[in-house]
This record gives sequence, C-alpha cells and structure tokens, in this order.
Amino acid sequence: MKKIVKFGGSSLANAQQFEKVGEIIRSDESRRYVVPSAPGKRFDGDTKVTDLLYKCYNIAVQGEDFGAVLQEIKERYYEIIRGLKLDLSLEDEFAQIEKDFKAQAGSDYAASRGEFLNGKVMAAYLGYEFVDAATVIRFDKNGNFDADKTDKLLSKRLAKCERAVIPGFYGAYEDGTVKTFSRGGSDVTGSLVAKAIKADLYENWTDVSGFLVTDPRIVENPAVIETITYRELRELSYMGATVLHEDAIFPVRKEGIPINIKNTNKPEDKGTFIVESTCKKPKYTITGIAGKKGFCSINIEKSMMNSEVGFGRKVLQVFEDQGISFEHIPSGIDTLTVYVHQDEFEEKEQQVIAGIHRAVQPDFVEMESDLALIAVVGRGMKSQRGTAGRIFSALAHANVNVKMIDQGSSELNIIIGVENRDFEAAVKAIYDIFVLTQI
Ligand code: ASP
Repeated sequence: MKKIVKFGGSSLANAQQFEKVGEIIRSDESRRYVVPSAPGKRFDGDTKVTDLLYKCYNIAVQGEDFGAVLQEIKERYYEIIRGLKLDLSLEDEFAQIEKDFKAQAGSDYAASRGEFLNGKVMAAYLGYEFVDAATVIRFDKNGNFDADKTDKLLSKRLAKCERAVIPGFYGAYEDGTVKTFSRGGSDVTGSLVAKAIKADLYENWTDVSGFLVTDPRIVENPAVIETITYRELRELSYMGATVLHEDAIFPVRKEGIPINIKNTNKPEDKGTFIVESTCKKPKYTITGIAGKKGFCSINIEKSMMNSEVGFGRKVLQVFEDQGISFEHIPSGIDTLTVYVHQDEFEEKEQQVIAGIHRAVQPDFVEMESDLALIAVVGRGMKSQRGTAGRIFSALAHANVNVKMIDQGSSELNIIIGVENRDFEAAVKAIYDIFVLTQI
C-alpha cells in the first residue's frame, strides 16, 4: 500500500502543527510520499509565508531594502526548526535566496521558496529524502504544464526513493527556471505525485474535516459529505465550493486514485472521499449545494422563433463575438434566455443588444440583473422521485421566487436561478429539506 500525503499551509504553520503532522505520518507505514505547502497562517490576521515572499520580492524589484521582510520569513522557519529541536541550518539557502532576489530571479521563483524551504524542514524532521520539485515537474516553453514529461521524470525519480518529501506548488522549465502553479497549487503537486507512484490513496490534509454539504457562511455547521464523485465535485467547485485546487482532479481521476480530504487537527474524523464512481448510497438524496451571485439574464423573444432554423446559433454567436461565455440557456416556445456573468456582460451590454437585433430581429430583448444561480448536485437524485418537487416546495415555503430551472439530462444537478437577495434563504431552505428533515 502506497499513500501520498499533502499538507496545507495551516497544517504546517508552526512547530506544534508539524508535530501533529509527524504523528500522522509515523502512525501509518504506507504514508511514504509527502507534499508540503509553505507555512500558512498561525492565527487570524497572520500572514502566509507565500504572501510574505511575494511582498519581499516586490520590494527587491523596486530596488529597495527587503532585509526586514526577509528576516520575518527567516523567523517563521527558525521558529519551526527550534520548536522541533532540529539540527538544521537554512543559512546557505537564505543566502542564495537573497542573492537571487537581488538578481530579480522572478516572482514565481520567489513564491516557490516557501514550499522549497518547508520541504527541507519536513525532510529533516521525518528523515525522508528531499526531492526538489524543480527537477521533476516540467513546464514547456509556452509556460504550459507538461504532463507527459512530468510523469516520466517523477516516476523515474521516485522509483529510487522508498520515502520522499516533494515540495508543492512549483516546477521548472527545461532550463531550470522555476515556475509555479496558480495559488493553492500544492494540491496539484500531490495529485501528480499520486499518479506517478500509482498510489492507492491521495490524502489531502487540511484544517476542515472534509467537503461540506454547503457553505458554512450560509448554514451553520453543515454536514460533511462522506463520499463524492469527481463529477459531482466538478459541478460544485464550478459553482464556487472550494476545498481543492481544480486542476488537482484530472491527474488522479484518470488513474482512478481516490482522494481523501482529512483534518490535521482531527485526524480521527473520516473526512471526505472523492472517487471516480461508487455504488455507496449517498447519505442524503443530494450530495451538495453551491451557488454564486452576480448573474444577468438576457431574454430574447420573437414569435415563431421555434421554426427559425439557426436562431440559437446566431444569438450565441453574438456573445461569442464579444468574448462572453454563457452559463445557461433555458428556452421556451418563442423565447430564449441567456445567463451570463454580470461583470463580464455589463461593459459590452450595448454591443450585445445591437448584435442580437442585427442577427435575429427579435420582437424584444429584456434584461434582468442581480441574479444568483444555485446548483443542487447529487448522484442520488437520479433514482429518487420527487426531488425537484421537494426543492420547489421548500423554496415556496421560504418565500423565494424561482426565476429559472435547468436540470441537466444527466440528472446529476438541478440549477435554480433566484434573485441575489434570496440566495442565502434559498440555500438554507434546500439544505433544511434534504439534510435536516432527511426524508
Ligand atoms: N503556498 C501556496 C499558496 O499559498 C501554494 C499552496 O499552499 O498550495 O497559494
């Protein structure tokens, strides 16, 4: 059994957190490959080391003295090293970093040092081999991640190590220039390592006990999802639910490797399993609810629209020409409504309307802004009669006016459009009817 374990910044913010992580790793022989993030926030209002590095580098680029911020960063690591009583010096590494900052080695390089140094500390603490991500994770000359090359390099290198620490978040171009993934990218590194070593499980350790059924800012203490499929996760993440970096899914999904989201502060909690497919019945009919505010609808009406071949294409072409992507397009007999992101649409509004008039000569075009979309997602909905009925009666009871309904033919999700101001009440009502009432 081979497991890869990735620890987020809050799991590695100080020496006490490192000790918890050490215990977790040592308690299971199969936890052989470790991907650390940079030290995160120790308390509310604290600054992540990654953010300190960006700040420090910005000062360096302006040619000013960055000594004080660099010292602050050093202190973060020395506090950990002292707390763990490690016999480790990072003086050489910091001297190199100082030199590279002066030579303006790039902000990606700067940010990557958070993981690089934490990887060094972690490797010393565990007695594992340190594998620099710059030597095994590749980007091509256009800056795109090179999946094939990376997989070859990583699997070849890790085949030689029984146990290793690979810092998250960055890789390098062929010439060794460091490049990072987008923020939160250590999740991606974990996924790449899992694929390369053909892991049985990718454990992603964070500060929550898994993926929650809905946003805790809307519903107090929401239930944890026990098992979620990659498809369900994709639907929910797209609608704003975040636990994992989006790009972390693809490498492991292809290989059928499950991810287990776990809580470093409560390791006994089972967390959430993310799997390709499962015959396990979900606990509730729905798996999760997520949503976003800030949409706009453009309703186009024209009598006999339905018999006009190419009507939809011509309308969508107008949006494409303006570089606006659409979210949903519910239609009626003589109407077609296009949902778009309000911020993308607003500045091009008049061009779009003129374009629609030119393209399809509608009877009229009507717009509505400040709308929210809510996705109710669940593999269990397919086999349950009355799911939609329950959603809409719950919304009616909560006095929420439903503006749009869209159920994908996969029956994996139902999208509901409401006014922005009804968003929270709607999410709460749907949560209550499926999770609290549990009928
Ligand atoms: N340290 C990086 C960040 O703060 C990457 C990560 O934690 O995954 O975004």
